[in-house]
Amino acid sequence: MEKTLVLLKPSALQRALVGEVIKRFEQKGLKLTGIKMMQLNDEILNEHYAHLSERPFFQRIKDAMMTTPIIATCWEGLDAVQVVRTMTGATNGRNATPGTIRGDFSVSVQENIVHTSDSIENAKEELKRFFKKEEIFNYNHLTLPFLYANDEI
Ligand code: UDP
Ligand code: MG
Repeated sequence: MEKTLVLLKPSALQRALVGEVIKRFEQKGLKLTGIKMMQLNDEILNEHYAHLSERPFFQRIKDAMMTTPIIATCWEGLDAVQVVRTMTGATNGRNATPGTIRGDFSVSVQENIVHTSDSIENAKEELKRFFKKEEIFNYNHLTLPFLYANDEI
């Protein structure tokens, strides 16, 4: 099954939304297969935000991501990348649909609670960037037959 990366940004830690965000993915039926607290630095952020390196706010978002530790999580499920992305909502919290994480908890473009991988290819790259192989775990949810029909998995 697909795996995707969710980073709980400093805004999630400062706003005490760590449990709330994790709860949403758990309740959806995604499987938590990796979790760790990390202090990010310039090196990893240059890679992570490489697609934004020419934008005027590049240094600002890197600084914002270093103000506190972050929590990196890996979630597994059928179409997990798209499921998590839908639950994340639009980048700008002011435009994000209510019911999404950003729609419910953010009024900002920068301070938007979570980073979530935007494609299967990027999820693979990003998981490698934030987790060692042995930090992603393999186990079964006993509720699997009640999460999916047997022809879905
Ligand atoms: N960001 C920003 N200003 C912008 C665009 C993006 O501060 O105009 C920040 C924001 O925190 C966003 C992150 O840079 O989450 C990464 O941008 P991306 O376009 O990848 O958005 P996302 O995939 O997080 O929705
Ligand atoms: Mg992105």
